[in-house]
Amino acid sequence: MIDRSTGSRPDPVAAADVIIVGGGPAGSSLAGLLALQGIDVVVLDRAQFPRAKPCGECINPGGVSALARLGLLDVVEKCHPVRLAGWDLFTDSGARASGRFAGGTEHGLGVSRAALDHALLQAARDRGARVYERTKLVGLSVSPARAASHRTVVEAVDHDGRRTVWTARLLVGADGLRSIVARQLGLVRRQPRLRKVSLTCRLRGTGPPRDGGGLLFGRIGTVGLAPVHADEPVWNGTVVVSARAHGRKLASDPVSFFRNAFLQAPFEWDVGPDIVGGPWASGPFDWPTRCAIADGALLVGDASGYFDPLTGQGLYRAFRSAELATPVIVRAVRSARSRAADLSEYDRGLRSMLRQPRALQRIIEVVVSRPTLRHLAVTGLQAVQPLANRFVRVVGDAMPVPALVIPETACSLLRVTR
Ligand SMILES: Cc1cc2nc3c(=O)[nH]c(=O)nc-3n(C[C@H](O)[C@H](O)[C@H](O)COP(=O)(O)OP(=O)(O)OC[C@H]3O[C@@H](n4cnc5c(N)ncnc54)[C@H](O)[C@@H]3O)c2cc1C
Repeated sequence: MIDRSTGSRPDPVAAADVIIVGGGPAGSSLAGLLALQGIDVVVLDRAQFPRAKPCGECINPGGVSALARLGLLDVVEKCHPVRLAGWDLFTDSGARASGRFAGGTEHGLGVSRAALDHALLQAARDRGARVYERTKLVGLSVSPARAASHRTVVEAVDHDGRRTVWTARLLVGADGLRSIVARQLGLVRRQPRLRKVSLTCRLRGTGPPRDGGGLLFGRIGTVGLAPVHADEPVWNGTVVVSARAHGRKLASDPVSFFRNAFLQAPFEWDVGPDIVGGPWASGPFDWPTRCAIADGALLVGDASGYFDPLTGQGLYRAFRSAELATPVIVRAVRSARSRAADLSEYDRGLRSMLRQPRALQRIIEVVVSRPTLRHLAVTGLQAVQPLANRFVRVVGDAMPVPALVIPETACSLLRVTR
């Protein structure tokens, strides 16, 4: 367990104000914000960075704005991201629509997650967080009594098998999907109902437009393509399918499965695409939580609850949850009060941020999984350009969900049902 910035190892028993388990975008951005406020914060991550992360690798406009507020946009710009102006949507029935963001400062970014997460974690170190990579959480003990006495206990093991017992005023679970922290705290509401799996590959080739992403909603599932480097012809290709229908085939030969699924998408290539990285698999995604707080602990990012990667909003939510958690954690540490009741403002803020977007995600899931509905929906967006633009802006967290209720929506419905 070595802090790569200082080369130091913690003692078998060590302490911090806040321990964050998981150094992905949620954990690292939160760690940096807390360190800037003078909080002694430690990040533990089982991976060694840079590490691959299955993802569509697109930061939506809401995420780009959040990065600017967090003072991290410069850091991300050094990862050579591609500026994304919007999304092209396709169905297997031949419908096609194109939605654009507002432009100016409202745009998305396509960027390698290996580079992004590495850079964000380094930024957290630069701001004063202590970071231990290749260090896995193996146990924790959080209780009302421990929260009251500010002694949450976290047990971690490094790659050499060295065990450290950390005591902290507060524990943060930023450990992603299937969060161990969420499970051990009893915060996971149920097992996944929507059972999807994904395969992501790094592709190299030329042909498709590089100023936006493309999504095909088809019989097999969803196929996504996005450029992820400003100067190199490299792409993210992601396929998301039902585990029940395709899981076995996908597991037996992931590369062939990816190739066959990807070939169904109407992306026009001049050269390639060649698979140059992956495949990286993930899923299932539907992990709701009862709430995101407990005595002496809270959850951020995917660990605080996830539904489906289809709309690509996870990074925005990772940054936003870090923003929402920061003042609550700083207050808890400074006032020596970290019971669940003292953290409830964070949970309320998070739920209120997620309520409408999650409802929309569920509607989108129903629509794209039914051939007639997805054909009608994409045809409707194609027919009414302002609605297509609003749709990608709402899903891009640049506008609130109610912005979709405009006269053009009724107009689009009338056109497609006539
Ligand atoms: C197929 C797919 C496509 C997606 N596409 C997009 C997209 O285009 N845009 C978008 O915004 N979002 C997308 N998402 C969602 C996005 O990837 C996540 O929302 C985002 O990574 C959440 O960040 P996080 O920091 O919460 O978790 P993560 O990025 O998962 O980081 C969690 C960290 O915790 C560490 N960890 C886990 N367990 C332990 C442990 N026991 N001990 C120590 N460390 C541990 C892991 O090593 C990891 O580094 C997609 C997701 C998937 C699966």
